[in-house]
Amino acid sequence: AKESLRGGHCYFTKEMEQETETRFRLLHNLRKAFDGDRLFMMYQPQVSVADGRPVGVEALLRWRTEDGAMIPPDRFIPLAESSGLIIHLGEWVMRTAMLQLRRLQTQTTFNLRMGINVSMAQFRHPEFLGVLDRAIAETGVDPSNIELEVTESIAMIDRLAVSRTLSSIAERGVKIAIDDFGTGFSSLSYLERLEVDRLKIDKSFVDKLQGDTADPRLSEMIVNLAKDLDLEVIAEGVETDEQLEWLKKINCDEAQGYFFARPLEETWLIEWLREQEQ
Ligand code: C2E
Ligand code: CA
Ligand code: CA
Ligand code: CA
Repeated sequence: AKESLRGGHCYFTKEMEQETETRFRLLHNLRKAFDGDRLFMMYQPQVSVADGRPVGVEALLRWRTEDGAMIPPDRFIPLAESSGLIIHLGEWVMRTAMLQLRRLQTQTTFNLRMGINVSMAQFRHPEFLGVLDRAIAETGVDPSNIELEVTESIAMIDRLAVSRTLSSIAERGVKIAIDDFGTGFSSLSYLERLEVDRLKIDKSFVDKLQGDTADPRLSEMIVNLAKDLDLEVIAEGVETDEQLEWLKKINCDEAQGYFFARPLEETWLIEWLREQEQ
């Protein structure tokens, strides 16, 4: 018994070692990819539920490796966060998305907003507001067309500092959306005191607006909560016509998902927007 226990232990450390090595290699490759322009942005349209008009796009980061494979952000963002690389990377994302918005404004007639994901590590960084200001000034973008997407968990740490940062962002005219709303545990009374503009209903609730056992209760609750707090609300991960019909029924303002468009590279995004103009 002793032998096998020790064996198990050895096996465990070896596995951990391997994991550390994999993480290390991945981080090394991520830095190289970042320096070698292998990271790029895709943009997923957001539309008005009432009439389908495009209202904005969300910038989503992509990593294409040298052999053409795509590494999803869920795999490398956490690594970028824990290593600190996210600060530099996040600044690049911000500028790239803002420059893209400037180009979109000359290429379409829609007055679009640009949603930019901001991770917790970025948001809490002492230089965050400075980075935001410089990006706005240097790209010449209208701050009111920028919307930063932060997750609900942001509201659970360091409350005073967070609410100060949110107020400073609001002072600049930049919008704030709470991403993946409903999956965290932020207290509603606290949410009421935060300067945010929009709730993004998490896909897990939108998934339930579908089929014989459709259950719109949670989505509806979030929409009603948003209205009570005078916030806008958008549903994410909308994949079917049936889900869109539910969203109309419960008065959700906006929607985003494969049903309308997948995340698109610039050329295809512009093509898609042009089609909506007709
Ligand atoms: P998120 O912010 O919740 O983004 C929505 C994710 O859902 C995106 O995955 C998008 O491609 C996907 N999606 C959109 N519509 C549908 C749909 O109808 N069905 C399904 N199944 N999926 C849909 P993606 O692009 O893989 O991004 C994953 C996460 O990585 C994002 O979740 C966000 O948390 C993070 N992320 C992406 N780009 C950035 C970035 O530039 N900065 C930071 N900090 N995080 C980012
Ligand atoms: Ca998001
Ligand atoms: Ca989300
Ligand atoms: Ca998510």
